[in-house]
Amino acid sequence: MTDVFSKAVLAWFDEHGRKHLPWQHDVTPYRVWLSEIMLQQTQVATVIPYFERFTEQYPTVQALAAAPLDEVLHLWTGLGYYARARNLHKCAQQVVTNHAGKFPDTVEQLAELPGIGESTAGAIVSIAFEKHAAILDGNVKRVLARYYAIDGWPGQSGPLKVLWDKARLHTPQQRCNHYTQAMMDLGATLCTRTKPACERCPLGDGCVARATGRQLDYPGKKPKKDKPVKSTYLLMLRAPTGELLLQQRPAVGIWGGLWSFPEYPMDTDLNAECAQRYGQPNTLELWDCYRHTFSHYHLDITPAYIELAALPDQVMEAGPSLWYNVHQPESVGLAAPVKRLLEKLAELDPLAS
Ligand code: SF4
Repeated sequence: MTDVFSKAVLAWFDEHGRKHLPWQHDVTPYRVWLSEIMLQQTQVATVIPYFERFTEQYPTVQALAAAPLDEVLHLWTGLGYYARARNLHKCAQQVVTNHAGKFPDTVEQLAELPGIGESTAGAIVSIAFEKHAAILDGNVKRVLARYYAIDGWPGQSGPLKVLWDKARLHTPQQRCNHYTQAMMDLGATLCTRTKPACERCPLGDGCVARATGRQLDYPGKKPKKDKPVKSTYLLMLRAPTGELLLQQRPAVGIWGGLWSFPEYPMDTDLNAECAQRYGQPNTLELWDCYRHTFSHYHLDITPAYIELAALPDQVMEAGPSLWYNVHQPESVGLAAPVKRLLEKLAELDPLAS
């Protein structure tokens, strides 16, 4: 049975696929393996000069295996992800030692070598040995996730299994090498992460993400870790004349250098603390707790509105402090939640001056 999907991909490859990349000439398992390792997380244009330098310096897997690791790392400099270079060297040595200098031709055996995952093994088997094997690199994941609108993050086993099933389903018995190359090219050049060129895509007619306009929703994003939740009181201390006490935060840390209400932990006895530090309160009223979210945690803020019976002689605060008049505000930097609370206080206290 002809698979419409792979047929469209192969027809597109014949017309538009890349066929003159350095590793597409003199195709050998060594050269294909080297290019596939270099292409992990790196674009074709960046890889080309490195591939040429490596194959000139180490024309065979034996030459690479015999080279000092330092020299290999030096030649790799600029490609990043240095674990790849170390694994590359280790893999070359294992191919020489354990496989008599010949790369094995099955996915299972290749995937046992350092730095070769199942997808890279599939690419080597299909491109270098021209045998049937599926791949599922980042580009292919994106194409398939969009084409089928597969929900979920591919780093999780559920979505990953669905993607592998689809990848295997469409990998053709004939011309598997061209199909593999085509899928990688399609993901890299048409079905790009942020600007998929659907109007030029050979899979456009059947693509669910395109039909629903949800291309950028696939593949699903890595789930965000739940942020920790912290809680605090913010003390809105009001002098008898209406001003509110603000403190300047230390330069380092949240709201660094901004002005804020004094902050107290939730286990504070507010009446006692207030009496000791600022004088006896006339009233103490807790407002509804609300959440302010920082990049790394949520802060649940409970504002405590406290009317002082008298202006304290001296405010014993660690840093600079000021009495802030909501109707004649000083130009100081205010933490966002504090600004909101001050606006609310201004509405509630129209006559303060
Ligand atoms: S139609 Fe668009 S979203 Fe779908 S596979 Fe092609 S480029 Fe990607």
